[in-house]
Amino acid sequence: MTRNLFEGKNVLVVGGNSGIGLAAAKAFSQEGANLIITGRNVETLTSKADEIGGRTSAYQCDVTDMEQIKDLVVKVELEFGYIDVLFISAGQYSSGSINSVTEENWDWLMDTNLKGMFFTIQGMLPLMGNPSSIVLMGSIAGRLAVAESPVYAASKAGVRSLARSLAADFVTKGIRVNVVSPGPTDTPAYRKLKGEGNTLQQVEWEKKLSTIPMNRLGTPEEVAKAVLFLASSDSSFTTGAEILVDGGEVYLS
Ligand code: NDP
Repeated sequence: MTRNLFEGKNVLVVGGNSGIGLAAAKAFSQEGANLIITGRNVETLTSKADEIGGRTSAYQCDVTDMEQIKDLVVKVELEFGYIDVLFISAGQYSSGSINSVTEENWDWLMDTNLKGMFFTIQGMLPLMGNPSSIVLMGSIAGRLAVAESPVYAASKAGVRSLARSLAADFVTKGIRVNVVSPGPTDTPAYRKLKGEGNTLQQVEWEKKLSTIPMNRLGTPEEVAKAVLFLASSDSSFTTGAEILVDGGEVYLS
């Protein structure tokens, strides 16, 4: 059942053409939002905007490219004038022990997960309404010891730190900043990692599943519900916070 929670609200979902971003975009649209989704892949963006329906526009923007972020700011200003909700889901995952991490790999991951996030927020800041809400995509990897994924874990710990500091900076501007941190979630990115058909990886992932107290993956829709809560006035007294959507992995294991 929908409550038209975002009727007339301008919502920008960065990384909205796949996985958790797409699930959140669909949920925002069902709640009546004026929506802009972004990503790098133009073809996917157009077809996903059609799939989402409602008042949805799609613009290409690679968050690792500062010029593309500036272009996006102009487009969002032209279309929306101001933003009620900024949700940044765009992110990449990479694993590898310390010796296998190259400078190029470090830069790619940090540029996408942290630098791109920071400069997207910086660019959109003049457009953020009062009140408005920024929701950032973290991960339980930012809280746990994650063997063989040190760079990803560091990038996601950085997201939590960024959110708390920006929440403090923006609190007098009426802009709330919060983080949603999922555990393993059944998205295209996750399925790629799992390497369907690869027996060794299948075994490793089954071991991974057994570390989740609820013994299953989360769904993108379950994560989207936490995003919508933090984006909406239902969480009007919440800022600098983090919601875990992880089947109990952080606190129960
Ligand atoms: P998907 O690969 O399904 O979606 C990732 C999205 O990010 C796509 O829309 C993609 O669009 C976009 N994206 C990737 N790189 C860039 C870039 N450089 N610039 C702009 N957009 C980009 O992944 P998930 O939905 O699984 O992941 C979404 C977020 O959730 C990530 O931040 C991830 O770290 C986090 N997360 C995921 C978990 C999981 O188990 N799935 C667990 C914990 C956190 P395009 O390809 O068109 O650029």
